[in-house]
Amino acid sequence: MRSSLHIGVLALQGDFERHLRQLHLLNVSGREVRCREELSGLDGLIIPGGESTAMNELIDRFAMRDALGDFIRTRVVWGTCAGSILLAREVDDRRIRPFGAMDISVIRNGYGRQIHSFYAEITARLNGDTRLLRASFIRAPIIARYGNGVMVLAEYGGRPVLLEQPNCMVSTFHTELHDNPLLTTYFLDKIISRGRPKSASSAYRSVS
Ligand code: GLN
Repeated sequence: MRSSLHIGVLALQGDFERHLRQLHLLNVSGREVRCREELSGLDGLIIPGGESTAMNELIDRFAMRDALGDFIRTRVVWGTCAGSILLAREVDDRRIRPFGAMDISVIRNGYGRQIHSFYAEITARLNGDTRLLRASFIRAPIIARYGNGVMVLAEYGGRPVLLEQPNCMVSTFHTELHDNPLLTTYFLDKIISRGRPKSASSAYRSVS
């Protein structure tokens, strides 16, 4: 079932190759997406880590904003790190026009500069199981708020770092650097079961 999926990875900038490698290891067809035509026929899209300001600019330069917006509204997407910034509802940097798919507010570089990047082992609740993930937080954003339709799958240091809505997931860290297919597999299964309502947390909460 998974192997029949066609997954795109936004390849304008950043860490797209590692995501493609994960898909390849799982025998899933992955495609670099650099123009709106390349979105056609895809079941899901990964927006990788990188530099969200650069990606934001390239999306406009390559005239992809409308097509990407349509795709994000109607399919399943996963944003890692910079990708999570682009999928957020609110970002603290006015240069970025986020797509607003995920009801979160993010603070770019929330942990500090490059020197404050770190590796951690985190536990995620995936389909009822507790799973260990090796995670690199590289100039990662902090999620300062999430809405009541958002489910938190993992926290680190008391902050949410992996979250999902029915058609969207975001992680503020990189697992694709560690050749652990767990999150990629979770994303693929989310596409397969798309539309199944997830239970939501109660009210709007501030976590900053
Ligand atoms: N700090 C980067 C940004 O704000 C994100 C870093 C990453 O994707 N690893 O875009």
